[in-house]
Amino acid sequence: MSDNLIDGKQVAARLRAAVGLAVSQLLITPTLAVVLVGDDPASHVYVRNKIKFTKEAGMRSLEHRLPADVSEAEVVATVRALNVDPDVDGILVQLPLPAHINSDRVIAEINPDKDVDGLTETSAGRLLLGQPGLRPCTPTGCVILAKETLGDLSGKHCVVIGRSILVGKPAALLFLEQNCTVTLAHSRTENLSAVCRGADILVPAVGRPNMVKADWIKAGACVIDVGINRIDDASRKSGTRLVGDVDFADAVPVAGAITPVPGGVGPMTIACLLRNTVLAACARRGLDMPD
Ligand code: NDP
Repeated sequence: MSDNLIDGKQVAARLRAAVGLAVSQLLITPTLAVVLVGDDPASHVYVRNKIKFTKEAGMRSLEHRLPADVSEAEVVATVRALNVDPDVDGILVQLPLPAHINSDRVIAEINPDKDVDGLTETSAGRLLLGQPGLRPCTPTGCVILAKETLGDLSGKHCVVIGRSILVGKPAALLFLEQNCTVTLAHSRTENLSAVCRGADILVPAVGRPNMVKADWIKAGACVIDVGINRIDDASRKSGTRLVGDVDFADAVPVAGAITPVPGGVGPMTIACLLRNTVLAACARRGLDMPD
């Protein structure tokens, strides 16, 4: 094991413990409602983990499992019922939804004050405007890992690769909020490797296995790899393994610090979801979040 690894599992465990402590100091039990549609195996694994960690942090977990052939109207009705349920603090609709359901329409129904994934138009607008609100979990996890590694991020050049609404765009805004100088790169960026070599903090969020090579990385840079890609690996019993967007073995000797995949950004996503649930529970009741 290299000593420049950023241990996302450990940072996430600490964040979950802090969330658990905050919950124990509240007189209420924050409640996270998860809506899971269909039989996607990966989604079932994610949801199982979310439920497990929600309960471990002392919060209540409600599950709404709907069949794959449920109508969009029924999913919307489920979300609307959760919006007005006074006992529900956070609503998470597990994506992807089956193809016949328009995810944008479903997400748009979520009460922004319960939008613990930070995906509604209102949450995105609050982020853009610098107003308090619930921030998307994965990009928040990236910022926390970068701050754990570098401390103050002010003035650092951060290059985010990928401009999705789920990861890349909010990541760019969150690093900007930390006073980074941000470059948001994407599939049309020219000389991408040269752009990346300028980064003090490099955040690939693309979904292309091993795309970022050692010569894309400035010596000593902090690399936060968001990508999760399953590739063939005959040496594994399952025949596959997970890798990031960074060619990890190539990059480790060059990077000052780097997240592994798995065990980097992934665990932070759930920890930030739990924190958002407590933030939502406190904000709805006008309470300060305990330290
Ligand atoms: P999207 O497919 O929505 O977005 C991918 C982005 O990458 C697009 O903006 C696209 O650019 C850009 N891109 C594609 N090809 C290239 C290229 N050759 N060079 C530069 N940019 C390129 O993916 P997501 O944002 O949803 O997810 C990205 C990755 O992060 C995936 O591997 C996903 O599994 C992972 N992920 C991990 C999470 C975690 O918890 N760790 C959570 C969420 C996602 P353009 O817009 O120009 O097409």
